[in-house]
Amino acid sequence: MSADCIFCKIVAGNIPSKTIYEDGNVIAFHDIRPMAKTHFLIVPKKHIETLKDCTVEDQDLLGGMMLLAPKLAADQGLVGYKTLMNVGREGGQEVFHIHLHVYGGGAAA
Ligand code: 5GP
Ligand code: ZN
Repeated sequence: MSADCIFCKIVAGNIPSKTIYEDGNVIAFHDIRPMAKTHFLIVPKKHIETLKDCTVEDQDLLGGMMLLAPKLAADQGLVGYKTLMNVGREGGQEVFHIHLHVYGGGAAA
């Protein structure tokens, strides 16, 4: 948990989110500024700033996030979709707590 991290605050329940899934390791919730009709984020409960900071210790966590994407996408009614992880400010990352974007279903309204 990092005191200034918005996603740690969501994990802790201190900031509300439209949660679609939660287990001991991850939480998934709808993006507040959707880039598509359906756009959610899969977020580990562990605070890791970027993919560059991950080590082999995080292998199972990262694999679990990837395998969760098709399950949650199906729950959301998506047949095809995109997954994306922005890495570093130069890679478009705005929130420095790793997260996998999953989005599909056409452009946001
Ligand atoms: P990044 O650019 O870091 O890959 O993506 C961060 C994403 O988090 C953005 O798509 C942004 O809309 C989303 N986001 C930022 N703050 C919040 C928030 O408080 N709640 C939710 N649900 N999404 C957020
Ligand atoms: Zn965090």
